[in-house]
Amino acid sequence: MFSDFKEENRVSKEENRVSMAGYKQHITFSGFLGVGYGTASVLLFGFTPEQGILAGVLTWIAGMLPDLDSQTGRPVNEIFGLLAAIVPFEMMGHLLEWGGNPEGAMAYAVGIYAAIRYGGSYLLGKLSVHRGMFHSIPAMIIAAEIAFLGFKSDSMITKGLMAGGVGLGFLSHLVLDEIYSVQWNGMTVRLKKSSGTAIKMIGKRFAPNIVTYSLLMVLTYASLVSVGIIKDPAFLPGKSSTPILQHATEDFPDFE
Ligand SMILES: [Zn+2]
Repeated sequence: MFSDFKEENRVSKEENRVSMAGYKQHITFSGFLGVGYGTASVLLFGFTPEQGILAGVLTWIAGMLPDLDSQTGRPVNEIFGLLAAIVPFEMMGHLLEWGGNPEGAMAYAVGIYAAIRYGGSYLLGKLSVHRGMFHSIPAMIIAAEIAFLGFKSDSMITKGLMAGGVGLGFLSHLVLDEIYSVQWNGMTVRLKKSSGTAIKMIGKRFAPNIVTYSLLMVLTYASLVSVGIIKDPAFLPGKSSTPILQHATEDFPDFE
């Protein structure tokens, strides 16, 4: 499994040099999209300016996410820094609930920042490969679903706004990489070797596919439960909204 990762890494590093939109192009492109998305959400769809700004920033940062596995040093560190900073904001509703008060939420925020900033880059350095499954449609859906689940709101539409921003930014990256894989040569258009590798459903390697699709299934399930399309199995059918576990403790109060 790990030799798989290493080998693909070597191949894709060569591919890297041949074609790829650069960090600057991605950050600029998704930045413009973010401004448009955030503005439209406020002016056209009546979201609050705060929601619009957060959605726009998520779009902007998501435009860099696929290159988290590129292992080219500085840009990756920068992306991790941005990601570590924005995730606690996106999750603030949950953090306030978990922490119980603003201080508790701050403690969670600092912990999440450190975990992503340092733990995340360490883990990815060990495992990932550029143009692996990070550059794929299932990875885009995974990122959007994480944003959906991470943003605490009673309004599914507001959660959807955040997820949509992440999905849009992520997709802009894949499209840009794909455009850059087309070489204009006077009258003729030649496809570079990397053509078709950015927007894909399935990678060449077995293990990353399994990991990606397992994650996709778990997060899709959790999202559907969150929307209410699938019933949470922890809740008894027909009974209001009391979890099974709570029933048990109610029936045997001595166990508490
Ligand atoms: Zn890329």
